[in-house]
Amino acid sequence: MEKENVKSVYIHIPFCEQICSYCDFCKMYYDKNIVNKYLYELKKEIKKRYKNELIETLYIGGGTPSILNISELKTLFSIIDMFNLSSNLEFTFECNLNITKEKLEFLYQNKVNRLSFGVQSFNKKILKFLNRNHTKKDIFNTI
Ligand code: SF4
Repeated sequence: MEKENVKSVYIHIPFCEQICSYCDFCKMYYDKNIVNKYLYELKKEIKKRYKNELIETLYIGGGTPSILNISELKTLFSIIDMFNLSSNLEFTFECNLNITKEKLEFLYQNKVNRLSFGVQSFNKKILKFLNRNHTKKDIFNTI
């Protein structure tokens, strides 16, 4: 993170419930203990490098950020509170299609104003080939 001109922040949450066959992202299976350590190190890194710049866009991607449970999301959002956020903040959170209503409400109540869902196909066979863990029905239900 450069000292000047930082307006955008990307935070990577590299945990997934299932590993898709085509994926080149930095990711690993969800593990509660590693999530705790990761969030601890994330906080340390931001404390060390962030110089109170005004943040206009914030993107939480992965991995699967929506895999975090409510307690882990609270920890993540307490870390995000360290940022000086613009009143016009664009705040995106990447979600899996099996995200719960409780988590969606939490995101809505905590300044998230943009969601990103990964829908690779509506075709059952292709979804199976890609090792995606959702159905065509999930796409319509969740979105
Ligand atoms: S859910 Fe996303 S990050 Fe995780 S393995 Fe699939 S494509 Fe990769």
